[in-house]
Amino acid sequence: MIRCISCGAEYGLDEIIYTCPKCGSILEVVPLRPDVSKDVFECRKSTMWKYKEFMPVDESKIVSLEEGGTPFCKCQKLGDELGVELYVKVEGSNPTGSFKDRGMSVGITKAMELGVDTVGCASTGNTSASLAAYATRAGKRCIVLLPSGKVALGKLAQAMFHGAEVISIKGNFDEALEAITALALQGKLYLLNSINPFRLEGQKSIGFEIVDDLGWKSPDRIILPVGNAGNISAIWKGVKEFYEAGFINDLPMMTGIQAEGAAPIANAVRAGKNEIVPVENPETIATAIRIGAPVSSVKALRAIYDSDGLAETVTDDEILSAQKLLARTEGIGVEPASAASIAGLKKLVETGSIDKGEQIVCVVTGHLLKDPNTAIDACVKPVEVDADINALLSIITGK
Ligand SMILES: *Cc1c(COP(=O)(O)O)cnc(C)c1O
Ligand SMILES: [Zn+2]
Repeated sequence: MIRCISCGAEYGLDEIIYTCPKCGSILEVVPLRPDVSKDVFECRKSTMWKYKEFMPVDESKIVSLEEGGTPFCKCQKLGDELGVELYVKVEGSNPTGSFKDRGMSVGITKAMELGVDTVGCASTGNTSASLAAYATRAGKRCIVLLPSGKVALGKLAQAMFHGAEVISIKGNFDEALEAITALALQGKLYLLNSINPFRLEGQKSIGFEIVDDLGWKSPDRIILPVGNAGNISAIWKGVKEFYEAGFINDLPMMTGIQAEGAAPIANAVRAGKNEIVPVENPETIATAIRIGAPVSSVKALRAIYDSDGLAETVTDDEILSAQKLLARTEGIGVEPASAASIAGLKKLVETGSIDKGEQIVCVVTGHLLKDPNTAIDACVKPVEVDADINALLSIITGK
């Protein structure tokens, strides 16, 4: 079943709806509550389909690039520096380089079940890169709308290279999403933005994996960047499903980080509100979270409040220094939006909102190479010399 998160009306899993026909609110997939022990996962390959009993799709139709099963790296040095026990879930290791692949695997599998021939999305970049790859694998036509000039180069390259029909919209992400939603409501395509509740079903596997990675324990806190707010809602749903299944005994505090210029959720939390005021012209260097009217804001706010979590904002400078810090302390390269989780952790530790010694998992959402321009701009140019031993010696010895 699909259920409205506001009025509770229920709909069939095969109905093509994106919002509640009765009240207009967003939808969620009702947990399946399969009767399985966690032992069934043990000998399976480490992809997100390891937990297939919890996924609301027909197993025989699964479209997968073996997404999930991403690295879970203990970050001893950075953790010691900040005074916490830190792990980083490296979502840039997914097939197209971001966690969006988890959602697309389930979303495209759903598209196969429904028998639609065209899929589409609006995107800040990673959603389109991922959809382009999965749509191709499933043999479906793929249309993506991107905010003109605001998509990182690597992401644009991916969407185009996998053969999506890429259309550049003169407007921001929120406007592109409105436009593609209108097309979807006319039945022209199956919408695979995170308003589609099946996307979040895939992404909840990040929550599954984190508690599995920790030996069937919940961390004290999960920190992640928040843009359209689907992922924080999905991870919370995942850990709750495993909690209700009896696989873990505690739940993590969900902590969302937004860029200062695109922070409707952090603003709402600060004001203790249950709904957001959209930000008109969202701005941040972290293009993946440059969103002013997050579709899943109500779910995200519930996740934060119900888990006793937090929301915080960080500046672009803080994001860029955290990106460098993670790359140069731990060898983990992430795109700017992902580094917001590290920047947020640092800030929350400094302000005393996070206790020393907490066990924390930062989800770093996308790969460094997604946004090569920002990475190159943050570094000094390589020195150029002749391929001559003496010239080289003088450089590396500094003499
Ligand atoms: C999509 C994305 C986000 C934001 O996730 P939401 O579900 O929209 O909150 C953050 N980082 C990266 C790299 C992304 O691609
Ligand atoms: Zn409703």
